[in-house]
Amino acid sequence: MTSRVGLGFDAHRFEPGRPLVLCGVVVEYEFGLRGHSDADVATHAVMDAILGAAHLGDIGELFPDDDPRYAGATSVDLLRQVVALAAAAGWGVGNVDVVLVLQDPRLAPYREEMVASLAAALGVGPDAVGVKATTTEMMGFTGRGEGVAALAVCLLVRDEAEDGG
Ligand code: MG
Repeated sequence: MTSRVGLGFDAHRFEPGRPLVLCGVVVEYEFGLRGHSDADVATHAVMDAILGAAHLGDIGELFPDDDPRYAGATSVDLLRQVVALAAAAGWGVGNVDVVLVLQDPRLAPYREEMVASLAAALGVGPDAVGVKATTTEMMGFTGRGEGVAALAVCLLVRDEAEDGG
């Protein structure tokens, strides 16, 4: 078995009048995130982690934010496309781990739903998905409540026999 690790990072600014979508789950809050798509910052970080591990570029190339096809896009649907691209290149998802960085709201009540949502899009079991949240103790843009940041790592795996030597 050959494996590759990938890293993704993203940040979006809070904006009133939009739903807050994280890992494909709508979170009850007074603000959503600004973005061309649903601005699901966590799912964006996961997509970039997969694309990085598979050497397939990044989401800015694949889903340009000036392309009207992706206006209001559901990011977990784009994640499914990324998983399919990686699969076409011979890679399967081993596991994914995500850290959301935000001061508010608390995400613990949504964690299981977020894990299930990502696992379904990734085509893996829930035991292969980690979703965690942390604050920055009021420091920086997340600490001031200006937005949400997310980091993700992904392990991709493939059989040696498919590796082409
Ligand atoms: Mg983004």
